[in-house]
Amino acid sequence: MESNDSFRHKGLRNRLVQEIQKKGISDQKVLQAIGKVPRHLFMDSSFIQMAYKDQAFPIGQGQTISQPYTVAIQTSLLEVEPGDRIMEIGTGSGYQAAVLDDMGASVFSIERQKRLFQKTSRFLPSIGYKDIRLFLGDGNEGLPAFAPFDKIIVTAGISDIPASLLVQLKPGGYMVIPLGERSQTMTRIKRLNEDDFEQETFGEFAFVPMLKGIAK
Ligand code: SAH
Repeated sequence: MESNDSFRHKGLRNRLVQEIQKKGISDQKVLQAIGKVPRHLFMDSSFIQMAYKDQAFPIGQGQTISQPYTVAIQTSLLEVEPGDRIMEIGTGSGYQAAVLDDMGASVFSIERQKRLFQKTSRFLPSIGYKDIRLFLGDGNEGLPAFAPFDKIIVTAGISDIPASLLVQLKPGGYMVIPLGERSQTMTRIKRLNEDDFEQETFGEFAFVPMLKGIAK
């Protein structure tokens, strides 16, 4: 990893961290992780000079790597503790999963696009992320065999909260999910106990849509 991550990249990352800090992210553990993960390696080489702008970018198959600020907000809302079992819906480039792994979480991430799944499955271990567990599947179903999770993060937009995901959340756990069709309201759901859930909202965002089934 070191050979492809130069002093210059680290400098650019520090500036990105300052930028998202100015935009209101104060969680030091989140800022540290964003300062550490080599985002330029998660994007196609032609975009290298863009990797440390606070913007979303195409990663192929019509999908995007989320804007760093969006990753930072979602990660902050999860209130990650070392050892947390976290399920991510929408692996994409694997960047969000890497941020969570760097914060000491045990990450389970699902992607529905086979080619992206294969690419990211090869890529993450190649830069040292060997413990992130990746699954090809429909995130609407979650991972019942690995449930329950302390936290669930959904990184694609969806109109309604899938009930199948709620039941995979531990009591006391959080799910962070962008809810809406054309634009999405960042929503955090806390599972208070077996039956009760509490919901808070955190502003408007734009995500690619959560789709159904698996795609080649
Ligand atoms: N977290 C990613 C960004 C994700 S973009 C990153 O850090 O790069 C959203 C991703 O969700 C896309 O890769 C898309 O293919 C995937 N996706 C959409 N619907 C899905 C579903 N039902 N199950 C799993 N993944 C899905």
